[in-house]
Amino acid sequence: MLKPSATIGILGGGQLARMLALAAAPLGLRCHVYSPEKDSCAFDVVHAGTCAAYEDEGALGRFAGAVDVITYEFENVPAKTAAFLARRKPVFPNPQVLETTQDRLAEKNFVSVLKIATAPYAPVHSATQLAEAVQTVGLPAVLKTRQLGYDGKGQAKITKGGDAVAAWRSVHNAPCILEGFIDFEREVSVVSARAQDGRVECFDVTENEHRDHILKISHVPAKVTPALAREASRIATRIAKAFDYVGVLAVEMFVVSNGRRQAVLVNEIAPRVHNSGHWTIDGATVSQFEQHIRAIAGWPLARPVRLGQRVEMVNLIGAEVNEAARWLTVPGTAVHIYGKGEARSRRKMGHVTRVWPR
Ligand code: AMP
Repeated sequence: MLKPSATIGILGGGQLARMLALAAAPLGLRCHVYSPEKDSCAFDVVHAGTCAAYEDEGALGRFAGAVDVITYEFENVPAKTAAFLARRKPVFPNPQVLETTQDRLAEKNFVSVLKIATAPYAPVHSATQLAEAVQTVGLPAVLKTRQLGYDGKGQAKITKGGDAVAAWRSVHNAPCILEGFIDFEREVSVVSARAQDGRVECFDVTENEHRDHILKISHVPAKVTPALAREASRIATRIAKAFDYVGVLAVEMFVVSNGRRQAVLVNEIAPRVHNSGHWTIDGATVSQFEQHIRAIAGWPLARPVRLGQRVEMVNLIGAEVNEAARWLTVPGTAVHIYGKGEARSRRKMGHVTRVWPR
């Protein structure tokens, strides 16, 4: 168990690291952020910062020497970096989780072995294999690069009668998976936390709306049946256990309905705090960020309770941050601005959370 005034090392310096550090402070814990980008917005709020490349073993060694435990805010931490650090200090969640979640095929296989449903999928490593995958999966389908895809990058939809080869070219012939296109009713996520003693706590199932492949709105409660909400939380819990996970884990899911019955398919796992959990800062008795800090510090988790009958989080993307002031006077609304430099289009600059009292 970390003692107050111990230091948590965080790889990555974006808004997730910033909000983790802001949650660690009231618990008396310090944060040291490691990021290669000198204008990282997390540097503004931490006890210490290192600006160096993820391959810089000298800087990594000094960072490991200065902290008590290490975590990360993004899943694309190079495997070598994670392994180097894990030899020196405890790293949570364990770096094996990264190997699985960095690769869409490994991730889907991991979920399938647990007998948890996903969209139908098949690996694609060549144009010939793509033709076979189309036969197996059917059309419409989405071709996704196995690695380094986010916010819709590295994805190409193939419609019925569409040009599969053009889709393959558009992802630059990178190793892919082909996924059946799901005509979902809604998208939800479960943000869960697993402590070092194995206890799991899930936040309320969150409903998510994307615009142009980027999360725009999250709200709770999600419009799902109580049975589906229980099932979604059970799925997230099983995945966390199977990874022997420590920290916060988010599972994104599609809700499909066949007639009157709803079911879920797992779309993606994020081994970190997640944008769809930002509402918990203002809308729950404990935030996802505090739960993550508690878990990696070896502290007990809190049981999260939602505040308000409804909570909605809206992302401020690009220039929308310039209109943040108008939210300041809306009752029950909290404004979060990440302090990033330029408000480039598609860049997450902040969010607002609105809580409707019970
Ligand atoms: P991903 O990068 O896999 O999280 O995908 C980003 C978004 O694209 C999802 O949140 C969905 O809105 C959409 N999407 C991804 N995969 C599928 C699929 N197989 N069927 C339908 N929509 C999808």
